[in-house]
Amino acid sequence: MNRKQTYYFIFLLILSATTTLSQTVNVRIFSKKDIKSIVVTTYEGEYDVIADTTVIHFDINDIIQVTSELDKISIRSLDGYHGIFNKIKLVAKNDKSTFKIKPAEPDLKARIYDDDLMITLRDKHLLIVNEVELESYIAGVVESEAGYKAHPEFYKTQSLICRTWALHNFDKHLAEGFQLCDDVHCQVYFNKCLKEHTIINATKFTEGLVIVDTTMALITATFHSNCGGQTANSEDVWGRPRSYLQSVSDTFCRNEKNSFWEKRIPVATFQSYLQENGIVLSNTDIPNDTPLFPQAYRKAFFNINGPGIPLKKIRADLKLRSTFFSVQKDNNDFVLKGRGFGHGVGLCQEGAMKMAKMGFSYEDIVKHYYKNTIIISMRALNFFTAPITSMPVPKDSLNVTPSEKPGE
Ligand SMILES: [Zn+2]
Ligand SMILES: [Zn+2]
Repeated sequence: MNRKQTYYFIFLLILSATTTLSQTVNVRIFSKKDIKSIVVTTYEGEYDVIADTTVIHFDINDIIQVTSELDKISIRSLDGYHGIFNKIKLVAKNDKSTFKIKPAEPDLKARIYDDDLMITLRDKHLLIVNEVELESYIAGVVESEAGYKAHPEFYKTQSLICRTWALHNFDKHLAEGFQLCDDVHCQVYFNKCLKEHTIINATKFTEGLVIVDTTMALITATFHSNCGGQTANSEDVWGRPRSYLQSVSDTFCRNEKNSFWEKRIPVATFQSYLQENGIVLSNTDIPNDTPLFPQAYRKAFFNINGPGIPLKKIRADLKLRSTFFSVQKDNNDFVLKGRGFGHGVGLCQEGAMKMAKMGFSYEDIVKHYYKNTIIISMRALNFFTAPITSMPVPKDSLNVTPSEKPGE
């Protein structure tokens, strides 16, 4: 970015900071379960129940049961049986309406969500979708993914990551009639944010902010539990390089819960595993005092002499906590001394938590783990990615030609 572009960028950021953006997202809930019947009650506020074109009275203390029956959906309430329909929607009558939903068949734990609920039928089961304001969804995801009692700056960081991921993947399930699912396939969203008020404040503080790379594209904001002191290159794990997912040294996570691990494997077992994967290791090749395979800095391959085995394959095959390990013989075993937990790419959660406790801001944390990125509001991003002809160009601003337009 040249100087003029930087001024223009700052102008857009200030402009965008004065406006808010309300956006909703359709998230399929109980997406991993085949649900035949659910019971719904209001938890806060009030709702209308719209079944096809009929409006059903739904009082604050009312209960409705929605069941899949052949190719339709039936509704029962305390008033009795209401008939069968194709589509049902619970529409929030005010801003703070929240409903409680409990699957009755199968019998599953109840959950609480904000805003609207849509129910249709798919393969004789209920397709249940929460149409929810984006920031409520983000708070629910952060609570599910990041847990409780963390520092506010960590929650702000995690909010940015979850929001960036959601917007980057908004069309993931579009062909199935919703946008995101509530499971690890997308982001875990097993409830609205209920217990941790710091998370709600963190999402409000960072409302609308996302992380982009230098081409103004939303980043793939990957994270993991602990990098072991050095994050991994994305190409070493997923085969595709990304400018912002490059290995960085991380001193913040070196004395945390998941910093170290150890696994012992009998010598013969490890030798035969290596042999199956093309490495013949005779007993005379094994050093006694020094590591067979040292890894002071992250490597992509396990090799002794000649071609190696991808460390990500060894991690998967042997169910290891990370690929960041050394191997040394100890009596009848090989000892794998490892560091960190997870794939190691992007943000290291334990390092980020430590940075937050030490007084670093969420901007510092994001920039430490995602190199050459920019934190930007979605509204400012829309300016950048809008067609050049429709962009309002402020007086005396830079003269952007199509070839220089960010995002191309
Ligand atoms: Zn999904
Ligand atoms: Zn780390």
